[in-house]
Order: sequence, then structure tokens, then C-alpha cells
Amino acid sequence: MSDKATKHEFQAETKKLLDIVINSLYTERDIFIRELISNSSDALEKMRHESLTKDDVFDEHVPLEITIDLDEEKHTLTITDTGIGMTRAELETNLGTIAHSGSGNFLSELAEAARKDVNLIGQFGVGFYAAFMAGKKVTVQSRSWDGSEGNEWVSEGAGSFTLSESTGLHRGTKIIIELKDDAHDYDKKWKVEGIIKQYSTFVPFPIKLEGDTVNTVQAIWTRSKNEITDEEYNDFYKFVGNASDEPHYRLHFSVDAPLAINAVLFAPKENFESMGFGRVDPGVNLYCQRILIDQHSENILPEWLRFLKGVVDSEDLPLNISRQALQDNALVMKLRKVITKRFLKFLAEEAKRDSDYYLDFWNTFGIYIKEGVTSDYEFQKELAPLVRFESSRSEDGKPTSLTDYVERMAEGQEEIYYINGPNRAAIEAGPYVEMFNKKDIEIIYTMEPIDDFVLNHLGEFDGKKLVSADRADLDLSKSGAEKETDEEKEEKLSDDACNDLVSWLKKTLDDKVADVLESKRLVDSPAMIVNPDGYMTSSMERIMAASRMEKGLAPEASKKNLEINLSSPLIKQLADLVKSDEAFASDVAAQIYDNAMIQAGLVVDPMVMVKRNYKILNKAVGA
Ligand code: ADP
Repeated sequence: MSDKATKHEFQAETKKLLDIVINSLYTERDIFIRELISNSSDALEKMRHESLTKDDVFDEHVPLEITIDLDEEKHTLTITDTGIGMTRAELETNLGTIAHSGSGNFLSELAEAARKDVNLIGQFGVGFYAAFMAGKKVTVQSRSWDGSEGNEWVSEGAGSFTLSESTGLHRGTKIIIELKDDAHDYDKKWKVEGIIKQYSTFVPFPIKLEGDTVNTVQAIWTRSKNEITDEEYNDFYKFVGNASDEPHYRLHFSVDAPLAINAVLFAPKENFESMGFGRVDPGVNLYCQRILIDQHSENILPEWLRFLKGVVDSEDLPLNISRQALQDNALVMKLRKVITKRFLKFLAEEAKRDSDYYLDFWNTFGIYIKEGVTSDYEFQKELAPLVRFESSRSEDGKPTSLTDYVERMAEGQEEIYYINGPNRAAIEAGPYVEMFNKKDIEIIYTMEPIDDFVLNHLGEFDGKKLVSADRADLDLSKSGAEKETDEEKEEKLSDDACNDLVSWLKKTLDDKVADVLESKRLVDSPAMIVNPDGYMTSSMERIMAASRMEKGLAPEASKKNLEINLSSPLIKQLADLVKSDEAFASDVAAQIYDNAMIQAGLVVDPMVMVKRNYKILNKAVGA
């Protein structure tokens, strides 16, 4: 340590990260080389971008490259880049704290991943601190492209690091790793070369290992499709996506109009968000003429395509565009539209080509497509044919498309119907599907909380309105085959008795229902709840109530209509009971209402309900 050296404590989170890196991640040690090369590559990309727009770059003519030197006697590995480098202040913050937003979360997720499956580590990008997986002491010498004096950062990975001035450095960063006693393999050329070939082939700068360039630097997306092997594509996917799986889909396309675009996009096999790892960063990088403009770009694709990995290169973009300016740049927006539409078209083609393979994709990433429908009006036309739902005609676990539903519609049916429920069995046992079954009309089963919002946002498909079967104004009289028979007419209550019962029910349930009506669509069930507000379904209401409760607000339940089945023995008997024992009839009416609410998936007061239920049971057994 020189006179001017200062000692600094790592931020608390950094200490924790170092602890995980040093003590849990030793089985995946090789990745430290990938992490450091990746940092160097980022610094070089930034330098390449800056040098296009700025004139006063220090060491301007030094070639952009990465050099790795090994010393088998001193057991060191040194990685040097001629990137943008770091100032003293940058060294202190960049290599002393963790930049990840919500780093607390990041740490617990990382610790969990380290415990469960080390393959997941790659997804996290441990970054610079990975150096301590193999190093007992790490020295970083860096000089910024602004030409200010260079500095040296030294740490043994425990609680602190030192910083001191270091003169005579070139622009860029040199990282000297003194290898741990059990990590001496990393001073062997064959070992390091293998790792670079495995992880870093696609780094767009020469990597010189002991004087030999060990990677090819041609950008894969500029090459012709039929020259690229599946293996090369898969390796590239692993490289850009930091992935260890293979891609599920791959789309490589080039267009010249309306914009020049070269893109390689991958859909992974696994959905990390659904595995509980929080929201993933966008995985597509934006280039202009092979120069990286925006890594993990939030602008080039809509948010709901954040699971995609890959690159988009467009030579029409201005090279000197800043990241902020990308956000509302008209050209970028146009690019975004073209690429998104192209990808959605690709998905539609794939779904046609191999529907089972598409279903695998749907089961993993369908949730993002649904997010797209509910959050982005712009692509609804392209998204609608991609959604899949189970239905009364689909096999269990084999959802169907709206296109296929429409194809199966009988003549005379003008709307597409759906009903929400927790699962197929529950929906099929409920009151809403009765008339659909009787009339042999297909009905879609929506089983995820977001589904009714999706169909509500779509509004229609192929000119057919999408209608929830719990809507009050649903009219099936024109659809399907079944007609009311005379026999059923006879079984019904007389019109007078019916009017009396309906007005009595309205009075008795006045505080609970908006209206009571005779049902035209119940077959066996005595009653059901329907929604007078045409846009709201019971499922949507349940979710909105839950989200209000989460925010500490009182749930806002709108009053529903109760439809009663005048052919049901229970309803017919109730009409008599009103006359002989009105108090008991009130309990029965309240119980019928609660039962219908439960079948609609809506909330009732369980205590009141159970107490009343016992009262009715007592009466039934004569207690
Ligand atoms: P990340 O790369 O995910 O941001 P790291 O911990 O790997 O996290 O690095 C933190 C920061 O340190 C980087 O964002 C970058 O600003 C800086 N850095 C790391 N390595 C280099 C390098 N070789 N040259 C210039 N800056 C670097």
C-alpha cells in the first residue's frame, strides 16, 4: 500500500454477496472468467460507442481488445481490456457496492439458487465479485477514458479494499487475480481456452490468450442463415441470454423495408419469473452496425416480451443516440412495432406448423401473451389468435384457440362464450354451463385470474363478441338446438305464483341483490348469480376486491342479480313455504343466495352461512 492508499469497507450487501460467492459457488467456478470477460466487453462496447461521438478520448488509437495472461509460477491470471476504464470514484462505488436494484431481493434469490441449482447462477450475473470464486487476492488497475490519473484497487475479499494512485497506466482496466491454492488450474492455457470457447465465443472483440486470438469476432446476425449451424445458434443463445438451457424457438430475420433490420430472437425453454426469481430484465440488445447501443433494451420490444433473448441490429438508427433519447425516438418506436409484429407472426406460423410444440411454449410463456393483451392495445389483433383456453370441447389440459372455436360454431351462434372457475371439474359442476350443455354450445373455461381481463380487453374475435356466461343479459334463445318442451312448461310454477315469489324474494333479499328474475337458462340448479354490469365478470370482481383489500381498502362489491329456476322442485316448494312458514322461507332464500354466490366464486360471510345452514338442517331432521 502506498502512502496515498485509503482503506474502504464494502457495503453490507456486498459483504453478503462475497460470502455467497466465496462459500457457495465454488462448484461453478469457471464462470468467473466469463463474468470478467463480459465486463471487459461491456467496457469496450461503451468505448466504441463513445469514440464515435467524442473527440477527446484518452489513448484514442489503442485497439479495442481483451488480453489474458497467465503465470504458472506466481499462479496468477490477468485480464486486461482497453475499454472505458474507471476513475477513482467509479472504482470505489462500482467495486464496493452492488448496483442491482432491490439488491436485498437479489441476494436472497441468489442464495436460494446457490442452494438449489447452481445452473441458475448464470442467470444472476454475479459480476465482478465472481473473481473471488477463484482468487484469494484481486488487484484492479484502471484508468478512465477521460485521461485522469490511474488507480489501483486491492482486496482479499474479506471486509474491505484499498485504493491508491497508480501512474503510467494505459486506458482501460487490468484485473490481476492471485489464484487460491485449489484453483491453480486457471493458470493453465488449455483450461482457460476451454472456458472462453464455452462461454465467450461471441464476444465482439478479440480475446488474446497468451498472444493467440481464441475467438471469432464476426457478429452471427450479420451472417447468412444457411451458413449457421444449430449448434452455433444455440451457443449464441447461451451467450446472449446467459442461459444454460437451449432455446425453444429461434427467429433469425433480415428486412430492408420499411427499415433495415437484422435480428436473432430466441424464446427460452424456461420461465424464470414463474420459478419465483422476480421480474426478469429485458433480454434483447440493440445494435447499430454491430455497435451496441442499448443492452437489455427496454425500448426495442414491449415489456411483455421481456422473456425473449437476442439481438436487433438496425443501421438506420443514429449511432450517437443516447439511451435516454431511445425512449421516445420515432424510429425506435417504428422498429419496435415491426419487430414485435414479425415475432408474433412467427409464433402464429409456429402454432400452425406444430401445435403441440406451440402448446409447450404457451404453457410456459402464455402468461406474457396474456399480459400483452391486457396492457398493450397496439398488438391485440396479432395476439388474439395466439391465446389458448380450455373449453367444453377441448381435452383436459389441451387448450384450444379462438380460431378453432369459431370454426366449430354452429350456424346461428353469433357470440363466443366463456365462464371462469377454479378448474374444469368445478366449472362443469356449476350452474353456468347447464344451458350450454343442453344446447350443445361450446363454452370456454377461463381458469386463471387474468383470463377474464384478457377476454374483456379483446372484446371480440373475428367479429364475434366475447361474452361471459355470468352476464345478466346473456341470451341463448337464438343459439343452439334445444327448444322448451310443453312438458317443461307444465312443470313450471304458474305465472301468478311466479310473480308472487319473485317479488317476495326481492323484498327478502333486498339488501343483497339488485334484482331477482326468472332464469331462461338454468336446467337443474335452483338459482345462480349473474352480473347486471355487462363488462364485469364475477372473476374480475373477485380479483379487484382482493387487490383493494391488499391496499387496505374495503372491498367494493356491486349488487348482483339472482336468477331462479322455476322448474326446480326447491323453488316450487319455496313458493308454498312462503305462505306456511315465512321465517323459515327467509332462511332458505338467504341460503339459496349464498350457495349461488359461492358457485360464482364470490365471498359470503361463512359464520352467518354455517349458522343458518345448521338451523335449516335441524329442521330437516326434525330436531
Ligand atoms: P454489472 O456488470 O452487473 O454492473 P459488476 O459487479 O460486474 O456488475 O460491475 C460493476 C460495475 O463496475 C460495472 O457496471 C462497471 O461500471 C464497472 N466495471 C466492472 N468491470 C469493468 C471493466 N473491466 N471496465 C470498466 N468498468 C468495469
